[in-house]
Amino acid sequence: MRLEGKVALISGGARGMGAAEARLFAREGASVVIGDLLEEEGRQVEAQIGEAGGHAIFIRLDVTSESDWSDAVAAAVSRFGKLDILVNNAGVSSGGASGARTKVEDTTVEAWDRVMDVNAKGVFLGTKAAIPEMRRAGGGSIINISSIYGLVGSDGGSAYHASKGAVRLLTKSTAIQYAGEGIRANSVHPGFIDTPMTAATLADPERNRSLIARTPVGRLGVPDDVAYGVLFLASDESSFMTGSELVIDGGWTAQ
Ligand code: NAP
Repeated sequence: MRLEGKVALISGGARGMGAAEARLFAREGASVVIGDLLEEEGRQVEAQIGEAGGHAIFIRLDVTSESDWSDAVAAAVSRFGKLDILVNNAGVSSGGASGARTKVEDTTVEAWDRVMDVNAKGVFLGTKAAIPEMRRAGGGSIINISSIYGLVGSDGGSAYHASKGAVRLLTKSTAIQYAGEGIRANSVHPGFIDTPMTAATLADPERNRSLIARTPVGRLGVPDDVAYGVLFLASDESSFMTGSELVIDGGWTAQ
């Protein structure tokens, strides 16, 4: 029970990596608040955790809304008594429904704003809302899900790269500002993981083959590959880690 007695809030926890983290955290003894826009999927994760003997509640959370964040943090405190862990996981891959990986010239202002709002402002608002309760709890752990695309560039997805780079540096400044209060902040940088976000890309056999070929371990990631890293950062096992970057990418950025 690596998270026994802890209370965690996970944004974007209804599916993909966030849902894997919610299930794993609950198995390790945490009480979990699942915040997402996707109510049906979120309630399913809530029910699965309950059926397995864990503790979880779903709350509708739009990470771009400051008042939604206040409500989510308040729900953690009113239901479970405190907040120890925040996983800023919610994210979108691009501004368009097509998921097109646009170059700078082809990126619309609307697409840029949408991606920055969810991926960067969402992390800022979540962090801002969680810190007072973590202070009251005597400390906490904030885990911000960036990406390998917050570390290196690629031939498209300009706004996504900018947003994930912002997450990386917001994490480090949060870490420095609150280290003295026992509040840690670390970023996680997944490579290509098989989730609903990447489903369309991975359904293209040629793209799938080429992504695997570029990944030294010879496979794409699964949500639990990332969830176990997030678990470590959430737990007291990582108490000397803050402001650091955990890369979980099958060796992609080591090349
Ligand atoms: P996912 O399956 O699409 O899950 C993301 C979740 O976030 C979805 O439930 C999504 O709901 C939710 N979300 C989006 N906008 C939101 C908002 N405004 N408020 C609240 N929730 C919102 O994606 P994933 O692959 O698990 O990604 C999780 C995180 O890892 C993201 O930050 C992503 O950028 C990052 N990441 C993913 C990969 C990868 O290969 N999959 C690699 C590196 C980093 P909707 O469907 O309603 O949008």
